[in-house]
Amino acid sequence: PYDMLVVGGGPAGAAAAIYAARKGIRTGVVAERFGGQVADTMAIENFISMKATDGPKLVAGLEQHVLDYDVDLMKTQKAVRLEKKEFIEVELENGAILKSKSVVLATGARWREMNVPGEQEYRGKGVAYCPHCDGPLFKGKKTAVIGGGNSGIEAAIDLAGIVEHVTVLEFSDTLRADDVLVKKAKSLPNVTIIKNAMTTEVMGDGQRVIGLKYTDRLTDESHLVDVAGIFVQIGLVPNSEFLKDTLQLTNRGEIVINAHGETSIPGVFAAGDVTTTPYKQIIISMGSGATAALGAFDYLIRN
Ligand code: FAD
Repeated sequence: PYDMLVVGGGPAGAAAAIYAARKGIRTGVVAERFGGQVADTMAIENFISMKATDGPKLVAGLEQHVLDYDVDLMKTQKAVRLEKKEFIEVELENGAILKSKSVVLATGARWREMNVPGEQEYRGKGVAYCPHCDGPLFKGKKTAVIGGGNSGIEAAIDLAGIVEHVTVLEFSDTLRADDVLVKKAKSLPNVTIIKNAMTTEVMGDGQRVIGLKYTDRLTDESHLVDVAGIFVQIGLVPNSEFLKDTLQLTNRGEIVINAHGETSIPGVFAAGDVTTTPYKQIIISMGSGATAALGAFDYLIRN
């Protein structure tokens, strides 16, 4: 068996693997797609100590760093089941079963998409999912935020300090965000909130986003909003479906962990966007990967 098996090859999984391997223990990594969300990222300007980098460069750096150690890297392999027996068993989609004395789950998350024409075409060319990451790219420009929940209204308040104007589009007739946030957003002169708005299309000029179309669900009329950026804030979905009924998840599917990264199953740790760790960022997921690996190492020397 492995001493530590890491499931996931994003920044959290890579950090966990490096911390484990540096303890001289038998370490494995299973990753459906090495690099995770970072592989889909263009400009990265908040990875501390690197003024600017991009996703492919950072993914290459992660892989080089992991492979600098004696780590079994199993790429394009998907975990479909976890069970604690004598060892912790992780079953892969191809039927293989990997055994380990400890496991770090770092399967990340994915942004829920609008599924409207233009969204994929203009992803990274005006369609964005992370205001902390991409907000400054739209300095002085008009933007829209899709979604009037907490993350949407927080994004609008955040963006209002950077961009020229923010239009929030909420599908239903009420905003689901906390009252204090809604009050704050409504008090800002450059934020407009439109309810009952169903986004139907992302418009572009072939290079970049130039606007969006939405339908007023009360009147059925179609409207055009001219914006350079569209922040989609309709939910972050943790990749934890295969763990349902196995360990403790929140009602949103996040793996519940303590300060040491430990889950509800002894010996099983978790890190990054798939967990209850607040604020989903590269630097934060790397830190939590290191925490989970050290937590798992502590567990190993005590058991
Ligand atoms: P992920 O990066 O999601 O990696 C999860 C890993 O687990 C992947 O390897 C995946 O293939 C694998 N996996 C999933 N399920 C399974 C399974 N069942 N079996 C095996 N493997 C599995 N953050 C910043 O700090 N700065 C930015 O500029 C920035 N820009 C972003 C831009 C975009 C478009 C996106 C989508 C995100 C951005 N983020 C940014 C957020 C950042 O990418 C995430 O917070 C970070 O990647 C989370 O790391 P993670 O390792 O927890 O998960």
